[in-house]
Amino acid sequence: MIVFDLLCADGHRFEGWFASAADFASQNERHLVACPTCSSVAVERIPSATRTNLGAEPPTPQPEPGQPQKTPDMEGKDPFAIAQILYSRMLDELLTKSEDVGKQFPEEARRIHYNEAPARAIRGQATQEEHDELVDEGIPVARLPLPPSGKLN
Ligand SMILES: [Zn+2]
Repeated sequence: MIVFDLLCADGHRFEGWFASAADFASQNERHLVACPTCSSVAVERIPSATRTNLGAEPPTPQPEPGQPQKTPDMEGKDPFAIAQILYSRMLDELLTKSEDVGKQFPEEARRIHYNEAPARAIRGQATQEEHDELVDEGIPVARLPLPPSGKLN
C-alpha cells in the first residue's frame, strides 16, 4: 500500500491509501476518490509527499547547516526583531565560550597568534589604536558594538 497526499479542487488536503500509483489513477479516473470534506471528486495527487507504509517514519527535514534555526520566540516577529534575537543569542554564545582577558586582550591575542599562549577564544577590550595594530599584524580580531558599560565589563 502507498499513501498519497491528495488535494481536491477546493484546496482540501487529505490522504488516500492505494495499492499503487496506477491503482490511484484508475480509481481517480472512475471518480471513486472523493474529498472527505466536500465530497469533490476533482482530486489530484500532490507528487512530492508520497511515502510507503513500511513502518518507517518519514525523514525529518534537517535545517540547512549554517541556517539559524527558527525558534518559537521568533514566531510572528518582524525580521528586525528576529535579527535582534539572533544577535543576542550569538553574543551569549560568544560570552559563554570565550575567556574574558579584559584589558590584556591585545597582548593575549598577540601571544595566541604567535603560539606563545594556548589557542582559545578570548574577549576583552582594546583601544582603536590597539585594534588597528592587531589588524596590521594580521591577527584576526572582531569588534562587537557593545556599549562600554555592557555585559563585557
Ligand atoms: Zn474538498
